[in-house]
Amino acid sequence: MKLRLLAVLALLSSSVSFAQDSLMFRKIADEVMTHGKCYDDLRVLCKTVGHRISGSPAAAKAVVWGEKAMRASGADKVWLQACDVPYWYRGKEKLMLKIGKKYKEVDAVSLGNSHGTDGKLLKAPIIMVHNFNEFKALPERVVKGKIVFFNYRFRQDFIFTFQGYGDAVKYRGGGPSVAAEKGAVGVIIRSMSTGCDDYPHTGGTYYKDSTKKIPAMALGNTTADALEKACEHGQVMAKWKSECHMKPGLVRSYNVIGEIKGSEHPERIITVGGHLDSWDVGEGAQDDGAGCVQSIEVLRAMKALGLRPKYTVRAVLFMNEENGQKGGQAYADSAIALKENHVLAIETDAGGFSPRGVGLEMSDAQKAAIVKYRDLFLPYGVYDFDHEGGGSDIDPLRQKMKVPLAGLSPDSQRYFDLHHTNNDVFEQVNHRELKLGAATLAQFIYLVSEHGLL
Ligand SMILES: [Zn+2]
Repeated sequence: MKLRLLAVLALLSSSVSFAQDSLMFRKIADEVMTHGKCYDDLRVLCKTVGHRISGSPAAAKAVVWGEKAMRASGADKVWLQACDVPYWYRGKEKLMLKIGKKYKEVDAVSLGNSHGTDGKLLKAPIIMVHNFNEFKALPERVVKGKIVFFNYRFRQDFIFTFQGYGDAVKYRGGGPSVAAEKGAVGVIIRSMSTGCDDYPHTGGTYYKDSTKKIPAMALGNTTADALEKACEHGQVMAKWKSECHMKPGLVRSYNVIGEIKGSEHPERIITVGGHLDSWDVGEGAQDDGAGCVQSIEVLRAMKALGLRPKYTVRAVLFMNEENGQKGGQAYADSAIALKENHVLAIETDAGGFSPRGVGLEMSDAQKAAIVKYRDLFLPYGVYDFDHEGGGSDIDPLRQKMKVPLAGLSPDSQRYFDLHHTNNDVFEQVNHRELKLGAATLAQFIYLVSEHGLL
């Protein structure tokens, strides 16, 4: 009899707790959807700063913007954390392809971190391969002196597009060094793009120390289709001039940090963040202005609701995610030096689209403790807790301190249409989708802190 009573009481208290949590979830969503400032913040970032590659004057301006926006959120404390970052400079670039009888300039962008032609004319024939295996089979004499076109298509059959990106990105990251090993003089890649358009996508490439730093550019899908067809019918020539290069030395830059002190366990820290730097195209709106303003919104909404979390909640705008992760490293190094107790870090760097879930990168027992609360998220269209997910800015916390990670997982269908292109602008972000993502983050953080789940 006594046991049954205890069971009934336990059931009652868990349903009371569920009702209380779901009420708080509702309050958080109402606050963000009706009074959220993240969309306005994003407009200011995109329209007054614009794109902001690490080390550039625009990135310095973004730090000033970030500090101001963080203070406006009502955070208890706001500070800058120094980190030294590389500065890759694009300069002028021009690619001309001889498809048919005449050379025609095409829309192309140099890959980030790549070394250009020093502004000199590079003129060479193109050879096309579809993947690394085809390339490996080519004898050195065929490759020597040529521009290699890695015509690898973004696989459209992966429903979660980050898988398609993970599959294709090796051609951007490693293609130039692979081609240089056989004496190629340049690389052209088909962009890592889901789109049916002609936007070329930039993004980081990484040279091996042992090979020559040959220039590398990306084409949008339509131009890549035209080049593919031309290569199938005969030799295509290219003329190419670009000035891009890595500036010598490092530039002093900063992560922007704001926090709300925890009411019961101020020493336990939950970090939520996105990255403040972007590639030097478009406005870095989805990648990752969205994640920055959502992180700030988490603090603002908690303050506006008078919701004092039991754990300390920190919003971080990380610097240099795109080509070095120096901000993420500096954050983890500081956490170690200060012997901080980080219980969770969550990153939002997958676009400001409708949230569908939260990826978890932690032990099975920790995952189970969180997934138990899945039903609370269902009214907000958030259901997927099954993907692994963290983020590159917070990964040093996992590597160096074994901190459990999470990543906001929005609908991924349009992200790789825009990612690293001139089309990643403020107008591509929907204010409701952006705010829903911020609400999910705040709800998730509230839940972990309120119930001491980690
Ligand atoms: Zn990003």
